[in-house]
Amino acid sequence: MTRSSAPTRPGADPQRADRAQTSRADVAIIGGGLVGLTTAVGLAQQGLSVCVVDRQPLPATLDPAFDGRATAVAHASKLLFEALDLWPAMDAHAQPILEIRVSDGPSLMHLHFDHDDLGDGPLGFLVENRYLRQAMADKVAGLDAVEVVAPEAVETIERSEAGARVALASGRVIEAALVLACDGRGSATRSRAGIDIMRWSYDQMGIVATIHHELPHAGIAHERFLPDGPFAILPLRGNRSSLVWTVPTAKEPAIMGLGPRGFEAEVRRRVGDFLGQVTVEERRWSYPLSLHLADRITDTRLALVGDAAHGIHPIAGQGFNLGLRDVAALIEVIVDARRLGLDIGSAEVLGRYARWRRADTVVLAAVTDGLNRLFSNDVTPVRLARDIGLAAVDRIGPLKTFFMRQARGSIGNRPRLLDGQAL
Ligand SMILES: Cc1cc2nc3c(=O)[nH]c(=O)nc-3n(C[C@H](O)[C@H](O)[C@H](O)COP(=O)(O)OP(=O)(O)OC[C@H]3O[C@@H](n4cnc5c(N)ncnc54)[C@H](O)[C@@H]3O)c2cc1C
Repeated sequence: MTRSSAPTRPGADPQRADRAQTSRADVAIIGGGLVGLTTAVGLAQQGLSVCVVDRQPLPATLDPAFDGRATAVAHASKLLFEALDLWPAMDAHAQPILEIRVSDGPSLMHLHFDHDDLGDGPLGFLVENRYLRQAMADKVAGLDAVEVVAPEAVETIERSEAGARVALASGRVIEAALVLACDGRGSATRSRAGIDIMRWSYDQMGIVATIHHELPHAGIAHERFLPDGPFAILPLRGNRSSLVWTVPTAKEPAIMGLGPRGFEAEVRRRVGDFLGQVTVEERRWSYPLSLHLADRITDTRLALVGDAAHGIHPIAGQGFNLGLRDVAALIEVIVDARRLGLDIGSAEVLGRYARWRRADTVVLAAVTDGLNRLFSNDVTPVRLARDIGLAAVDRIGPLKTFFMRQARGSIGNRPRLLDGQAL
């Protein structure tokens, strides 16, 4: 039974798929971004054959101009990267996060997380996305079990109890036991499957830039809640930091349109003088911010992974970490199924993945949504209440420990890879 297919393009040759070159892989991954490539590496290392299809050529995504963001990699995500042998290539570029300081505009109330309070290593690591992507691309290039087909467009995806067939615009067909939608927020694979999402826009944009500063940052990440939204100063290797400046969508064109000096002046005003003289790299990026949750993350021989399944506000730097928790859970259920001789694309196996991921995803989406609403709000009673809240959390040891464990990803029923264990 065909579960999902896009209409054939006008003028396309209906016989072409039959004549096409057909190849087979255990898993077809649509989308070779951060989540898709990590999944490919993990599955291939467990002996599965993987075909990754992306609409963009992989080298283009490695260009420093492609993605200016830096990711706060949680401790548990680092353990996953270690288990997949990806971390050695990232380590030289990773800045340990030793402290996090949260403040509310000019208020004196603040919240301070210090890794020493847990005594279990850094709270996480800041790594520029270009280095994450490079490490993944290099690893994939060395794995015979992974084929990357890019740039390429998916024409149709047919899924049935018997198997899945992904037909590409080039005429090639990939047959697989399982299709993974790793094609990000606007996932066409999700839409083809008729899976709805619950979504709302925050009407905010995240402007990203890198600053160089005179004084060392000492591994301290700062999250400042300004009336327009959060302003994060995230430590990078060297005397550099990555900024995520949340602004209302209506203000974004004016800020992005500022000349280098005007932009630098606005940045300096918000950063202050605690880092000494600040200069801003000329290139800047901006990303629309929204929340979405897929109604379900599986269908016949299909699983949604990463941003295709959920997208959250970057206020807590957790979106990719959440996606990596999907990856670790999915790899574990697939590998366990394989060992038991089960069909890796069966409803039973995918059901285990869906059940495992549901609560974590919903809770994190709700928490990040609530935090953003609470802190992107300048109404006086709300401001007072949250300042009292910040001060209270700062004084209550167990609550602070709880938040630090959340930031490190050391929570819940974790897949083995997130504890750095072999499968
Ligand atoms: C400003 C900002 C800061 C952030 N900071 C953090 C942070 O500090 N920590 C954190 O954990 N998370 C953070 N995130 C979230 C994180 O960036 C995302 O969760 C992560 O990039 C999602 O990866 P992905 O691979 O699922 O999706 P994507 O990165 O969107 O990759 C999707 C891939 O699919 C391909 N694709 C799309 N459509 C198709 C198609 N039709 N056919 C074939 N291929 C297709 C694309 O080319 C791309 O390669 C941040 C997000 C923003 C916006």
